[in-house]
Amino acid sequence: MTVANRTIVQVLLPVPLHRHFDYLVPTPVDTSLPLVGKRVLVPFGKSGKKVGLVISQSDQTEIEPGKLKPIIEVIDDTPILNRDQLSLRKWISHYYLAPFGELIFSSLPPAIRQGDRLVLKQEIFWQVTNSGKNLDTTSLNKAKKQQAILDFLLRQDSPCSKSHLDEKFQNWRNPMNELVRKELVEVIKQDAAFNLIQTDHIDINLSPEQLAAFNQIQAGLESNKRFLLDGVTGSGKTEIYIKAIQYTIHQGKQALVLVPEIGLTPHFISRFRQRINAKIALMHSGLTDNERLQSWIQAKNGMAKVIIGTRSAVWTPMKTPGLFIVDEEHDPSYKQQEGIRYSAKDVAILRASEENAPLILGSATPSLESLHNVEKNKLTRITLNNRAEDAQQPTFKIIDIRGKKVHGALSHDLLQSMEKVLADKKQVLLFQNRRGYSPVQMCHDCGWIYNCERCDTPLTYHKRINRLLCHHCGVQHRQENTCHECHSNEIIPVGHGTERLYETLSEYFPDSNILRIDRDTTRRKGAMDEYNEQILSGEVDILVGTQMLAKGHHFPDVTLVGIIDADMGLYSNDFRAGERMAQLITQVSGRAGRASHPGTVVIQTHYPDHPLIKTLLENDYHHFANLQLAERKLINLPPFQYQILLRAEGYDTGQPLNFLKQAEKALRSASGKLELFGPYPSPIEKRRGRYRYQLLIQSTQRSDLQSHMHECLKNLEQIKIGNKVRWSLDVDPMDLF
Ligand code: ADP
Ligand code: ZN
Ligand code: ZN
Repeated sequence: MTVANRTIVQVLLPVPLHRHFDYLVPTPVDTSLPLVGKRVLVPFGKSGKKVGLVISQSDQTEIEPGKLKPIIEVIDDTPILNRDQLSLRKWISHYYLAPFGELIFSSLPPAIRQGDRLVLKQEIFWQVTNSGKNLDTTSLNKAKKQQAILDFLLRQDSPCSKSHLDEKFQNWRNPMNELVRKELVEVIKQDAAFNLIQTDHIDINLSPEQLAAFNQIQAGLESNKRFLLDGVTGSGKTEIYIKAIQYTIHQGKQALVLVPEIGLTPHFISRFRQRINAKIALMHSGLTDNERLQSWIQAKNGMAKVIIGTRSAVWTPMKTPGLFIVDEEHDPSYKQQEGIRYSAKDVAILRASEENAPLILGSATPSLESLHNVEKNKLTRITLNNRAEDAQQPTFKIIDIRGKKVHGALSHDLLQSMEKVLADKKQVLLFQNRRGYSPVQMCHDCGWIYNCERCDTPLTYHKRINRLLCHHCGVQHRQENTCHECHSNEIIPVGHGTERLYETLSEYFPDSNILRIDRDTTRRKGAMDEYNEQILSGEVDILVGTQMLAKGHHFPDVTLVGIIDADMGLYSNDFRAGERMAQLITQVSGRAGRASHPGTVVIQTHYPDHPLIKTLLENDYHHFANLQLAERKLINLPPFQYQILLRAEGYDTGQPLNFLKQAEKALRSASGKLELFGPYPSPIEKRRGRYRYQLLIQSTQRSDLQSHMHECLKNLEQIKIGNKVRWSLDVDPMDLF
């Protein structure tokens, strides 16, 4: 109905409902200016208020005029999202079968969700004064902390923010105030946080191979092409990104760069800072809410020319979008695993085409999806086969450990190779993708295994804190020495995590300096930076760690890489496990070696004849990927199929199963060519005390899958028992857990 002379707005709210809400615009609000794209504060529920976003305005509503509530206030003077940005999000919410309001709000930084105004703030920064620059910092050696801070500031090429210092130092305020009092450091105010500005001017000449690749990309930058930059580790992909960004900025446009994990890539960022003469905004969860807000504003108004961030940065609006880059495009962290389960890579692909900008996906180990898209001519592939600076690719060696004696988890062959490398004063890197001491605690007398009560999976022993930890729900137990079944005291640790490997290594190589890198040892801020310095300076002899070692850095003095257990990925029930394992091994191996001392990779396995192991032996990820693609095609798996996973969980087994059975019926009755599998238990059937089941829905046609699911969404929502279970839809699921 029409409400005479009054404006009604349709408002989206951050609630998991597929609908908008109508509100009345009170008379004092000037409605000659459009409200679409602005945030409003509205009454919601009994006495609550919520921040909403206006998506349309009219004089129509289906609500009785008497029941219509007025908005409380309009928060923004200008829209925070324009029509194109709104319609892109609409499309994405449709794709992920997600409520539009929930998607919009999860695409905004926390401060904007909470209703903070878009104000560019000035913030305090610290920089070295001229007298500070001329000081020999050793004269501060009685005040070690001041000396360390001054040394650090001297190494920076732009003023340092609070968060930057927090990352590096604890309790730095007092010594910093002393430095300011001595006029060695000064406090300045400037546009807030993480605007990294170039001072060094390093230029690098591309190799002929890089140059050919860049020329091809440059031509595509004009015609908005999409590229897969498929280059072995160390081939200089980052250099090509930088050139492409420089070109984009030169055209007066902005670039958005996604990386898997910022904490692990300080080196990556500092290279950008050295080479790009423009403002770079960072966007990741390690920043404060205000810092993220500031980056967002500066990207939106065009001040920041480059935006570098993790998954959620893909939503950062740009005034003049000119280039999208997804580095390490195969990395699973681009997929959000809770809430709206979007893939930042796919959103970037979509944004690039909607915003008429070119796209570069880069990796040494491209995902099978991307390789398939090359086949379908959706991506143009550009290859770099050689390492920059003439470094050699490592050679691979398999150690068949069947029936062999092992020391801890280390075979005699591996130990011998290590001894040689250490005698040459080079470094060894050991990869074991399990943190903690031992992943299983078993009774030696009866075979009882100590499981997490809430997850039904074995608890991992962490020796340093002497606790048993569940890696699924985080629960901690005191270490126990008594079997719950037979009361024997013979509880033995089974399996070797990084912590136990470290222990074995310390016994075997007492004179070597060993460093462990995993989530437990890198929790502290700035830890990864320190470790990197220790590795690069040669202080470390043996490095042992998890997949964190597969990312980012090159360790030029590492000449031996040992893969402790390659078998984990070979016979998993997740069809992507082989692909993941091959990517990890190839990436870890790529950390090693430089021109002067080429690397060797040794792989311990019980399955030396397995095709994955055999192709890796030839160091040929692509050969392996082709085999996998052929296999996936044969047995109808992605990327030859499109999948949606319907998950349900509850405190007993009956309700979620019951829900999924009804869902299956609802989906079957819908006309269509959908294939349904299940319901069946999730690979981890019980987690955090909840029983979990799933129904897999797939089709060879994405459009079929999408349209039928939309038809059925209402039916799913009407299943009564749905209120009693937690259920969710995962479009393009990356793991079936
Ligand atoms: P990728 O991103 O492919 O792993 P990087 O861009 O990190 O490779 O390059 C690997 C190393 O080689 C880096 O230390 C980088 O500075 C260096 N490098 C890359 N391209 C060149 C070049 N054209 N000349 C000299 N050094 C280069
Ligand atoms: Zn027992
Ligand atoms: Zn648990």
